[in-house]
Amino acid sequence: MQYYLEGFRSGDPDVREAAPCRREYSGLSGLPEKVDVLIAGCGPAGLCLAAQLSQFPEIDVMIVERKPGPMEKGQADGVNTRSMEMFQAFGFGEKVKRESYWVNQTTFWTPDPANPAHIKRIGRVQDVADDSSEMPHTLINQARIHELFLDIMRKAPRRIEPDYGWSVQDLTIDPTTEDHPVTVTLENTGVNAGDTKTVRANYVVGCDGARSNVRKAIGGTLHGDAAHQAWGVMDILANTDFPDIRQKCIVASASEGNVLILPREGGYLFRMYVELDKLNPDERVASRNLTSEHMIAAANRIMKPYTVDVKQVVWWSVYEIGHRMTDRFDDVPEGQDRDPRVFTAGDACHTHSPKAGQGMNVSMQDSFNLGWKLAHVFQKRAAPSLLRSYSAERWAEAKRLVDTDHQWARIMSAPPGESELDGSDMPRIQKQFIENLEFTGGLAVEYAPSALTGEATHQALATGLGVGRRFHSAPVVRLSDAMQMQLGHVAQADGRWRLYAFAGSADGSAPGSAIHSLADWLATDAASPVLKYTRADEDIDAVIDLRAVFQQTFEDLAYEQMPALLKPLKGKLGLQDHEKVFCVDHKGMGDIFEMRGIDRTQGCMVIVRPDQYVAHVLPLGAYDALAAFFDGILLPPAAEVARLRS
Ligand SMILES: Cc1cc2nc3c(=O)[nH]c(=O)nc-3n(C[C@H](O)[C@H](O)[C@H](O)COP(=O)(O)OP(=O)(O)OC[C@H]3O[C@@H](n4cnc5c(N)ncnc54)[C@H](O)[C@@H]3O)c2cc1C
Repeated sequence: MQYYLEGFRSGDPDVREAAPCRREYSGLSGLPEKVDVLIAGCGPAGLCLAAQLSQFPEIDVMIVERKPGPMEKGQADGVNTRSMEMFQAFGFGEKVKRESYWVNQTTFWTPDPANPAHIKRIGRVQDVADDSSEMPHTLINQARIHELFLDIMRKAPRRIEPDYGWSVQDLTIDPTTEDHPVTVTLENTGVNAGDTKTVRANYVVGCDGARSNVRKAIGGTLHGDAAHQAWGVMDILANTDFPDIRQKCIVASASEGNVLILPREGGYLFRMYVELDKLNPDERVASRNLTSEHMIAAANRIMKPYTVDVKQVVWWSVYEIGHRMTDRFDDVPEGQDRDPRVFTAGDACHTHSPKAGQGMNVSMQDSFNLGWKLAHVFQKRAAPSLLRSYSAERWAEAKRLVDTDHQWARIMSAPPGESELDGSDMPRIQKQFIENLEFTGGLAVEYAPSALTGEATHQALATGLGVGRRFHSAPVVRLSDAMQMQLGHVAQADGRWRLYAFAGSADGSAPGSAIHSLADWLATDAASPVLKYTRADEDIDAVIDLRAVFQQTFEDLAYEQMPALLKPLKGKLGLQDHEKVFCVDHKGMGDIFEMRGIDRTQGCMVIVRPDQYVAHVLPLGAYDALAAFFDGILLPPAAEVARLRS
């Protein structure tokens, strides 16, 4: 973690200097009349977006929530490895690692052939494949994740707080103006229930859950399978003789249904999902009057011969869920050629069963995809047309999620006989679980070629860093201080692009070498995207952050030979940044060139988007292609445009 760049400040380094333009959150100050971005809903999608946008003091963000205060317990609890990688970029990955339950292994239980009324363990699967991510798959209360995002918002320059007790009722878009064209009607749900206010916004993001009013206001409808399946979920403190209670378990009984067991943070708590009755087509789950008592009884029937003695029901819910999604995630109807003003994210635009544990994860990944794009537009680094890519990229991923979840839900709900051996030596449910691991880890996302994702023409230079896929971190050693670390952890949720330059084996960054020449070109050439897109008053790495990785040990590299762009002077004091140069880890954690299939002779450049996805892999000398890639996305600063025009 780097800080003190702008001078020494005592206290918690996570608390950023307060921005003078921030809003006063007091009862008397009321709601603002205009904001840059209005976010509806304080779930994982909304809070992730607000936390991301809070990193940019120039953006005026308002997040409204119809409930009176923050969530305290319940709902989702699965944090997949991809979300953990994102938490690392937000700065709270280590906190979640410390507090959460780590899913290391999943076990499978089905009816014992010798006595079908009893269940029997049939297999175990390692839950996170070796080197699929440097982060664990964790389980933790959704409310705790909310708190961690709220903490980021509070410590950000604008000290953002949600406006609780306000519900988005409707919105209209005025196509004739660019000045806050979206008018949002909010209704008070608190002490002044029924009062309405309007707020105008440049952009609105509906993170308002499965019954989204924002979705309805832009004419979005969810298509797909309606639920007709009641699910019971309870977080409990209980004793049991079931031996795998501290493992994730998928349990199928012969005739009583299924349970999914998820151990939770703290060592004692665990969650049970109990599949309850199928609903009739016109029936709502509420009409069944199901309670936690029904769930406890069902769990005890399913888990025979084991028993569960519940001491405290911490939270429970009975809900119905379908596999559904909208046609698009913004307000631009098919066939219209304009930039979007309103977006939906998370459950507002796709819903799926809790069985694959994706609800919270995919929702956060939606808004992480949108956050940096909105920031680029407000910072005038990119044209508003960049925002069109949000729906295009995330719709395709949601479709994959809904399809996979559908298939998984079918297999999980199949009677044990049908989910048994299908000719192989492994039960079908276990086999499918293994096949889904990359997907459920959030690691299978692959954005198609576009302005933001290059063609994989040079993929052979880094076979393990797939273009369009998330940057897969690996260990390195930092040259300046011999620090063993993960290369991916240099990326923060700060809206910057990373350019990793991997050196060929003979390259020790002597003057004239490929790395030295690249850094010099980036620092001096008029066509360099670093020069072109960084404003005169910004640090040289404010938009594109160059990092270099060498194959030599740190004893064989001369730090003094490193080019200026790898040791830039930054901040108002002009302090040198010593954290840009790395070498391969020779102390046993693994060789990044080996692990990620990087061409040892030639090396390569890897461009990584602000949301940690690989945008391009290029040869080290491909200056024109590098320049062309950024020219297709970024806008030069206004001063530069004026100079070119004159
Ligand atoms: C009762 C319940 C139980 C669940 N249990 C599980 C589970 O066990 N496992 C699992 O994986 N997933 C579960 N989910 C789903 C999971 O929580 C979601 O997939 C995930 O939270 C999606 O995040 P989101 O931010 O898109 O939406 P949500 O988390 O639903 O957040 C939406 C937020 O918007 C607020 N809101 C709604 N309408 C408005 C409005 N008009 N104006 C302002 N604010 C509004 C809501 O109060 C809420 O805080 C559950 C969901 C619910 C509702």
